[in-house]
Amino acid sequence: MSINTVIKYLFNRKSIPSPRKINTETIKYFIQGHVRKFAKNFGLVDDYILEQASEREKRVKALSPRCFNEGKCYACLCSLEETLISEASCVHGCFGKMLKKDDWNNYKN
Ligand SMILES: [Zn+2]
Repeated sequence: MSINTVIKYLFNRKSIPSPRKINTETIKYFIQGHVRKFAKNFGLVDDYILEQASEREKRVKALSPRCFNEGKCYACLCSLEETLISEASCVHGCFGKMLKKDDWNNYKN
């Protein structure tokens, strides 16, 4: 999320089509997305998370090319890379919440 977006969230929410609520859950997702994006560079993110992130990316590409091409969601303005790798769901339905490891492995198989 760019500094411009943070400023919009704090001071100009009305300019955001579908702003996320700011609460402990969404703050957790925000931090999680950033930490995982960084940790990924060192091979520290579990496969079940990376697999879901890439499935989610395919869904966004198919369902909402605009978000995919801009690298951020047109509705909530969140950066795609960070949102895809966090547990958060998409505000306009491109993907649901990330599954826990066992649930993801059951779903895959
Ligand atoms: Zn979107």
